[in-house]
Amino acid sequence: TIDIKHIRQNPGLYEQNCIDRNYAAHSKSSWRIIELHEQWLALQQSSRSVRERNNRIRASLARTASRVKDAEGSKAVPVKDGLIGEAKALKTELGAIEAQETQLQEEMESLAQDLPNLSSTHTPVGTEPEVVGYINQHPESNSSRLDRGRKSHVDIGQELGILDFSGSAQTSGWGWYFLVGDGALLEQALIQYALSVTRKHGWKAVAPPSLVYAHIASACGFQPRDLNGEQQIYAIEQSEKDKAKPQLALAGTAEIPLAGMKANQTFEESDLPLKTAGVSRCYRAEAGARGADTKGLYRVHEFTKVEMFAWTLPDNMGEEHFTTPTAPSSEAIFEEMLSIQKEMLEALGLHCRILEMPTTDLGASATRKLDIEAFFPSRREKDEGWGEVTSTSTCTDYQSRRLQTRMRVKGGKLEFPYTLNGTALAVPRVLAAIMENHWDEQERSVLIPEVLRPFMGGQEKIQAQ
Ligand code: AMP
Repeated sequence: TIDIKHIRQNPGLYEQNCIDRNYAAHSKSSWRIIELHEQWLALQQSSRSVRERNNRIRASLARTASRVKDAEGSKAVPVKDGLIGEAKALKTELGAIEAQETQLQEEMESLAQDLPNLSSTHTPVGTEPEVVGYINQHPESNSSRLDRGRKSHVDIGQELGILDFSGSAQTSGWGWYFLVGDGALLEQALIQYALSVTRKHGWKAVAPPSLVYAHIASACGFQPRDLNGEQQIYAIEQSEKDKAKPQLALAGTAEIPLAGMKANQTFEESDLPLKTAGVSRCYRAEAGARGADTKGLYRVHEFTKVEMFAWTLPDNMGEEHFTTPTAPSSEAIFEEMLSIQKEMLEALGLHCRILEMPTTDLGASATRKLDIEAFFPSRREKDEGWGEVTSTSTCTDYQSRRLQTRMRVKGGKLEFPYTLNGTALAVPRVLAAIMENHWDEQERSVLIPEVLRPFMGGQEKIQAQ
């Protein structure tokens, strides 16, 4: 299902792409695929005479057999022992050739499978993102906001009694937390709000499973370990009795079960775009991340997120391919996801900046990625206060090829749809940003953004409880 021909035809492109995306260990894969393909061709060539000889002998044996049948009851026709012996030897020889062919194909497939997607022309090459816009302006444009304080959500949460880290230190350790009272209600309000906005824009709510097969996660571009060998997702320990079953992992994001939901399925062209909003608990090992963000909600092992996931028609393919060439394609859905994120972050009163992410930040599956960072007063000494709250990726056919999700287009032809994923709302960081940005030092309370109040029984503030 992977377009190995394209890789063979553009080895330099794939090599440079790996270098740009920090996939140095894979940068020679395209050249190795060419070598393997040449070996495969040579094998085809050298085995041609064996195959021809085999066909001739089989035909001759078949003829002899039919003559024996005709002559039954009369004069016996001698069966050629020599021919039978040769047929057996050829069968063994062909079996060995076929095994070699399969091995070469599997090696090519596995090298191709591990290559990252090609980067878009929007993507800056290197490690530096490009700032492409702001939401609610830069915080410095409203310095009174900056003066309000830099109390961290950890201190606010403890003062108000809505965050409990000492309890979680006992139950689960670093990276877990309890949301209590209005903290727990604010989480539910954020989820409900995100669902109401995505629903208004035609995204269908889905509650996916949290456990997924590891092979589905890796087809989506998530490996149990990342490029630095750090653990990304939690694998489930399987009992002796279940050892033969496929490995299960805890989903790091609803993107994985949502993408997997349509594995091995075929869409009709008219089904697309299909837009879903998955609400799930997300599990991150974050093994290497200890240190800078260990305090608070910024980097935790388990959190709730509403995630947008869509299947669309590819871009730039016209009437010759599609009956409905005017249906929104991946570029339009990418813009829609971004505008939904802007709508919510603006209404929540957060200062944000929008970043076009560079090649080294794209992961395996994205061709293009835009992140939105919110301003966290307590992080002013770190990253000038900016912290990522959403991430939107467009993956072309990278995931659908690996998951064998297809679509039937004009004339019944099968193609691969494009997939996209984007955060609608990841609770803990937004909750932290709301607490820090809407903290009133005098009143010692957090102002609840208006859009969340209907989901909190009309409550306007969170005070000590
Ligand atoms: P990702 O799926 O890694 O692109 O993350 C999507 C969003 O989830 C991020 O923009 C964050 O808001 C949030 N997020 C990711 N990892 C964590 C974490 N370990 N703790 C809290 N929030 C996270």
